Amino acid sequence: MNFEVERLLRREVRDLPVYSPGKSPEEVAREMGIPDCVKMASNENPLGPSPMAVEAVRRSLSSAHLYPDARSLRLREALSRRLGVDADRILITHGADEVFDLLAYAFLDRGDRVVVGDPTFSSYELAARTMGAEVVRVPLREYRQDIPAMLGSVDARTKMMVLCSPLNPTGTTVSAAELEEALAGLPAETLLVLDEAYLEYVDDPEHPDSLRYFASDPRLVIARTFSKIYGLAGLRVGYALCWPPVREALEKVKLPFNVNRLAQVAAEAALEDEEHLERSRESNRQGKRKLYRVLEECGFRYVPTQANFILVHNGEHHDLFTELLRRGIIVRDGAALGIPGHVRITIGDEEQNRRLEAALREIAGGG
Ligand SMILES: *Cc1c(COP(=O)(O)O)cnc(C)c1O
Repeated sequence: MNFEVERLLRREVRDLPVYSPGKSPEEVAREMGIPDCVKMASNENPLGPSPMAVEAVRRSLSSAHLYPDARSLRLREALSRRLGVDADRILITHGADEVFDLLAYAFLDRGDRVVVGDPTFSSYELAARTMGAEVVRVPLREYRQDIPAMLGSVDARTKMMVLCSPLNPTGTTVSAAELEEALAGLPAETLLVLDEAYLEYVDDPEHPDSLRYFASDPRLVIARTFSKIYGLAGLRVGYALCWPPVREALEKVKLPFNVNRLAQVAAEAALEDEEHLERSRESNRQGKRKLYRVLEECGFRYVPTQANFILVHNGEHHDLFTELLRRGIIVRDGAALGIPGHVRITIGDEEQNRRLEAALREIAGGG
């Protein structure tokens, strides 16, 4: 039988790269014979999930035979109270990643364009290309999204521009003035998608409150997640803030039961656990301060970050990624993130940070 799947496939799918996650400790143990690795690569919360979320999941397990609420009403109401945003402007999703997929399904046709930073989080491009849209990548300037250049790339075919703040993989943010510039410069019918996956880690008091702009601008779609500071990456839950007409469009293309029961109850409980949130923030703040100092003492240049990861310049250590891997530390290789010559390191807990420090000192000392 002469079966060629290539001939069945849509062209867009045939040409699509496969998302490659970082290495797992198990893989490194198996492939390189290094047991006991620490993974500081996926920007997960090293403190784990909120104990209240774990308890809520446990309680809800015996209802696992029941379909989840297709509209995630309780979680939307909890978010609505917390954020002061109407529940009909909230869409709960299967991780923030699903927001980008749904936007692409609902809005993008072959020939449409999406403007993004370069580098940026890869999901925007994968979603857009799946629908045959063209992705226009605009290089960063000094590790920051270049708003004027991005606006300069917008044309009549541009359906959306995506900003990420703090930006993965650099940890830099979009200022209030830049956000205003973006909204003022975009055509009336172009969406501005703002990814705030790391918002809760931001400690810059000048960081814009996107909800202020969202209140009056129906083009703004904000994506957020429970995967990062809330520590629920394994359960897959995030949300979009968007005006009702946009939400209705996205609802048409989402799976009916896109967010499972456990994820819904866990997110709702996590939202109430202020103490875990504050502890996570403080742990990150201290880890960041400590890591800055170690990097400076070791002579590594880095990009000051507003998130829970730090982009570090390899400097003379051309394969810093592998040098760290050999010492049992898994980070993300910048080459895989579109920013060669760097590694992206997730700030860990005290123990992980200590191991990282020892490895960096050894590498810097030529050991
Ligand atoms: C991790 C991440 C997300 C969210 O991922 P989900 O787990 O799908 O919620 C979104 N945007 C950026 C920039 C991220 O780094």
